[in-house]
Amino acid sequence: MNLIFLGAPGAGKGTLATLLSREYGIPQISTGDLFRAAVKEGSELGNKVKGIMEKGELVPDSLTVELVRQRLAKADAGGGYILDGFPRTIVQADALAGFEQIDHVINFEIDDQLVIRRLSGRRVCRSCGAIYHVDNMPPKVEGKCDRCGGELYIRDDDKIDSIKNRLRVYKEQTEPLIAYYRDKGLLREIDSSRSPQHSLEQIKGILE
Ligand code: AMP
Repeated sequence: MNLIFLGAPGAGKGTLATLLSREYGIPQISTGDLFRAAVKEGSELGNKVKGIMEKGELVPDSLTVELVRQRLAKADAGGGYILDGFPRTIVQADALAGFEQIDHVINFEIDDQLVIRRLSGRRVCRSCGAIYHVDNMPPKVEGKCDRCGGELYIRDDDKIDSIKNRLRVYKEQTEPLIAYYRDKGLLREIDSSRSPQHSLEQIKGILE
């Protein structure tokens, strides 16, 4: 099953992609995570995208599409995948349609105020990438990952100015994809303003 998770930053795509990936045994492919890994490695790609990401702007389409094309060519994506955070522009969606067949596009619906609350409370493990939230999903020990004991931190792009910019970029460049996929008959909508469990049940209802 080839899935796209679409929605504003902070809508819960990453959390749900992790849950669903475990349950269905298909990989979660997050372009944000791939870019963050490149930045951490200090690779050529990482150096190109670091400043763009800190400001909450989008990485150029050509770089992003190439990254996804290479990732989808790996064996583990052969039995299906969840694209989390890609595509984010019409150009990316058109490019993807040229080399992949998508089964469902799940649109995570949520309002801006809730996005701001969620993102500003988000904490991420520096070692394994697990996601927590100070209110909704706190770690057992403050500042420490339950899974691996790694240090939890606030992403640079989860700081308030960057959050506002990411929302603006989302509305200008990514929101048009809702109509794009609706026209193709692929769009499925969920209310992602409640718990991850509630979102998971809605998605399973769509897929099963
Ligand atoms: P995310 O973790 O999905 O919020 O992504 C973090 C950042 O990575 C974004 O703010 C962008 O700078 C970059 N990024 C992730 N996915 C894409 C994409 N599909 N197109 C362009 N930039 C992206």
